[in-house]
Formats: sequence, C-alpha cells, structure tokens
Amino acid sequence: MRLFAQLSWYFTREWRRYLGAVALLILIAILQLVPPKLVGVIVDGVMQQTLSGRGVLMWIGVMLAIAVVVYMLRYVWRVLLFGASYQLAVELREDYYRQLSRQHPEFYLRHRTGDLMARATNDVDRVVFAAGEGVLTLVDSLVMGCAVLIVMSTQISWELTLLALLPMPIMALAIKRYGDQLHQRFKLAQAAFSTLNDRTQESLSSIRMIKAFGLEDRQSALFAAEAKDAGEKNMRVARIDARFDPTIYITIGTANLLAIGGGSWMVIQGSLTLGQLTSFVMYLGLMIWPMLALAWMFNIVERGSAAYGRIRSMLAEAPSVADGEQQAPAGRGTIEANIQRFHYPQTERPTLENVSFTLKPGAMLGLCGPTGAGKSTVLSLLQRHFDIDQGEICFHGIPLAQMQLDAWRSRLAVVNQTPFLFSDTVASNIALGKPGATQQEIEQAARLASVHDDILRLPQGYETQVGERGVMLSGGQKQRLSIARALLLDAEILILDDALSAVDGRTEHQILHNLRQWGENRTVIISAHRLSALTEADEILVMQHGHVVQRGHHDVLAGMPGWYRDMYRYQQLEAALDDVPAIAADEEPANA
Ligand code: ATP
Repeated sequence: MRLFAQLSWYFTREWRRYLGAVALLILIAILQLVPPKLVGVIVDGVMQQTLSGRGVLMWIGVMLAIAVVVYMLRYVWRVLLFGASYQLAVELREDYYRQLSRQHPEFYLRHRTGDLMARATNDVDRVVFAAGEGVLTLVDSLVMGCAVLIVMSTQISWELTLLALLPMPIMALAIKRYGDQLHQRFKLAQAAFSTLNDRTQESLSSIRMIKAFGLEDRQSALFAAEAKDAGEKNMRVARIDARFDPTIYITIGTANLLAIGGGSWMVIQGSLTLGQLTSFVMYLGLMIWPMLALAWMFNIVERGSAAYGRIRSMLAEAPSVADGEQQAPAGRGTIEANIQRFHYPQTERPTLENVSFTLKPGAMLGLCGPTGAGKSTVLSLLQRHFDIDQGEICFHGIPLAQMQLDAWRSRLAVVNQTPFLFSDTVASNIALGKPGATQQEIEQAARLASVHDDILRLPQGYETQVGERGVMLSGGQKQRLSIARALLLDAEILILDDALSAVDGRTEHQILHNLRQWGENRTVIISAHRLSALTEADEILVMQHGHVVQRGHHDVLAGMPGWYRDMYRYQQLEAALDDVPAIAADEEPANA
C-alpha cells in the first residue's frame, strides 16, 4: 500500500483522469446494485402473484438497459485510468534514461547492464500495472464492497449482514500477511531476473568469443543455473500468489453458509421473505469480485512497490562527479594538469601520483608506457570521469571541477581504445556527434582518418549498414571510423586513447600526418603503445606504475637510457623483421 503514497505526486498531478475514473466506477457500482433488488421484487411478485407477465418483462428490460450502460461506462473508465498509467510509464522511463545518461563510468562499474535494463523494462511495467489495475481494484473493491454492505444491512437485515461478515477479519489478516511475504519474495525474484538478464546480455554480446573458445556448454550451464535460480524465486512468489484466491473463496463460502443458515432460520421465523433471502444471497455473490479484487490489489501493489523501490534506488543516486558552475571561457586555452594523487573508487592504492604537464593550444602530448601504467586513467581524468583526490586539471586557469561538465566535454573529441559503432549506416556513425553534417563534411573527415577508400569499397559505400557494433567491419576500419567521427566534431582538443593500435604502420603514419594538418591549432593528446605514433608530439610522458618516469621530445628520449629507448629500438627491430618476408615475397617472382 506504500506505493500509493509514493506515487501520490503523480495521482495529484493527474487528478482529473483519476477522479473521472473513480466517479465512473462508483456509478457502475451503484447501477450494479439495482438488478439483484429487481430479481427480489420479481421473485416476491411471482410468489405472491402480484406481478403480471408484462411486469416481469418490463423489469427484465430495465436490467438489460442497465447492463448496456454499465458496458459503456466501463469502456470510458478504462481509457481514463489506463491512459494515465501508460503516461506514467513514459515519464518513469524518461526520468530513468536521463538519470543513466547523467552517470559516470564509476556508476557503470557498480551496476551491470542487464540489471539496469531489467529495471527500465520489467520494473517499470510492474509499477504501471499497479498504478492502473491497482487503483481500479482498490476503488472497485472499496466502492462495490461498501455499497453492497450498505444495501444488505439497510434494505434486508443488518443482523444477517453481520453474521455473514464474521469470517472477514480473519481473511483480512491472512491477506495482509501474504502481502508482506509477497513484497520480500518479489524483490528477490526481480533481482534474480536482473542477473539472468545480465547473463543473457553478456552471452549475446560475447557470442563470438564464446564460440572461439568453445565455451558454449559452459555458458549454457551458467545460463541454466541462473534461469533455474530465477525460476525458483518466481516459484516462491507463485506459492504466495496461490494462497490469495483459495482464502477468498473459503471466506465467501463460509459467509454464504452463514447467510443461508441464518437467513433460512429468519424466513422460518417470518422476519425475512424468501425474495429478500434470494436478494441477500445474490448481493453476497456480488461481494466475490470486490474481495477477489482486494486480494489481487494487495498482490499487484506489493509487486509494484518492490519494483518502484528498485527504480527509485537508481533515480536517487547522485552522479559521482558533481557538475561545476562556471562556463568554459571561449577560445583556445592552455591545459595545466597537476595530478598529485588519484585512486579509483574500488581500490585503496593510488593509480596515479605526481603526473603533471602543461599543454598550450595546438600542442601535441604523447603518453606511453607499459600496460597498466595509467595512460587511460590520465585521459579519463581529463574527461572528468572521476574526481582527483589531490591536485587539479585546469583549462584557461579554471579547475575542471568548477566548470560545467557539458561545456567542458563539448571542447573534447575522444576516440577510445575500443571503438563503438551503432547498428546504422557508415555515414550516420561518422556523423554521430554532428547529425546535421553534410556528405561532404563526412567524406572530408573520413579522408582525414584514411578510411574513405575502405568505405567506397563497401557494398553501399557510405550507406552500408555496419551491423550490430560494426560486425561488418575490421578492427582497423572501426578504429578509423571512430577517428573520423571525432574529427567531424571539430572540437579543439582531440584525445586518442590507443586509437591507432589496429591500423598498420603506413596508415598510422598517414593519419598522423593528416592530423597534424587538421589540428594546426588544436590540442592533441595521444596515448599509444607503438612509439612511432608519438614521434611528432611536442612532449612525451613515459609512465610506469602511475608515475612519470621520463619526459621530453622523441629525439631526446630515443637517445636517453630507459624504457623509451629500449622499447623504441625493440619496435624498430620488429618492424624491420616484419619487412623481410615482405621483401622476400616481392623478390620471389623475379628469381623464379
Ligand atoms: P593499457 O596500455 O593496457 O591500456 P593503461 O596505461 O592505459 O594500460 P590504465 O587503464 O590507466 O592503464 O590502468 C592503470 C591502472 O588502474 C591499472 O592497474 C588498472 O588495473 C587500474 N584500473 C583501471 N581502471 C580501473 C577501474 N575502473 N577501477 C579500478 N582500477 C582500475
């Protein structure tokens, strides 16, 4: 029942629709009380021979007319009530999506996709059902139940009504208990559904890897275990569910037994006519629906309340990174980073310590170092995905923490380590951040990213559908499409997080050359494992275990003992060895 209080903001706002529906339900309840009364009149009239055949037909006609009116009124209240509940679904989903889009990576580390999806679909459906059917059953059961009780006690006999109502308190207690149990069990069942959803989502998105590793049976077994767990938890809900109806039927049966027993005795005593007893039993029949509705209402409202709790817990989570107040000043600006200490929320150990650099507009910064050194973390802090423990990053002299997030991020174009493509055309994927881009602009960006020729070779060129997550394309093509997407944004700061790892050396050289021309007064920050990608950088930071261990221009670092020189030599040797088979292959036909 807590749910009605929780949703009171919505009921208050949509009071017209709800009031209209409730008024119609009351009218219907009143109209439904008339036929049993008329049946009593007909029975007594026929028994006492005071009613002619024509009179009987007339009363039957009245009853038919009431049935038609009730039919029409039922249609109208359904439109009013369910229309309001579907509108609630739209609003809840909008709020939920807005909340998810405000969250930062840290939130998505804590919550899994399947769970978030389950809340947006299954849980919202439950709340909406409670806001529609729940309200209907509450009003219907109260109005109809009270109306029938009033008529029975005032028009027929209050003593008989009291007798028939004796089993009701026991039923009410039982239903309350079932409701509480249902709430708890349903919460667990929904959580199990979230886990199952998660497993499904994970299995489907990694299906290629599962097949490549021959893990189908293992995944199937894991899925079956989750499905079994969800099934068992739903079964526990069903067991409670199954107790509602029998309890109601036993109560109604007992009430009928008491009414017929007591009523017959009153007929024999002469304090009740047979017609009145018939009407009373028919009224008692009318009580079946309100009582079932009441039980059902408890059932769906408890489910809705558990589901609403799950949605609310997400809506209540404040983003881990607070939005700043200041506008980012217009024009190119210097970035000054002074990260004294940063650790991820899940870890105690600092991931970065004493990382600092200054980037003038149009400068290029390179980041390199062994895997896990902290390169992506620096880029992540630049995008303000997390807050720094000690230190700050400033743009135009203003700390990022004080700047409006949207304003800051609109200055950045980012290409991540793992490119993400939507299942849409190549052109739409490139134009993702600039939906109104012309074909010419799209092609220009694709040329800069050295992917234009590849696109032309696709079946429908720029209009080719790339499939889910870009399955149609190679890793290198996906990376270059993502670079083209970033370049089209025309942002003043370009961040490339190991974004050239899947392209060959020559293409990498070409893209970097294009970038230099494109970004003459744009700032570029590039993290790479292949050091050839950093040769043009104004400054390179060599990172190890979250610290900057070397820094300087490529020419300086390549001549200085240390990780950079060793790695550069190793990579050059590797590249030379790679070229040998190619040269040999080229020479073979000449020798033959
Ligand atoms: P690579 O070259 O492999 O991409 P990197 O230099 O970019 O590595 P980061 O991704 O910045 O390294 O990771 C630095 C350290 O932080 C690693 O030890 C990593 O395990 C840890 N780390 C990264 N992301 C998280 C996270 N979300 N939560 C906790 N620790 C993290």
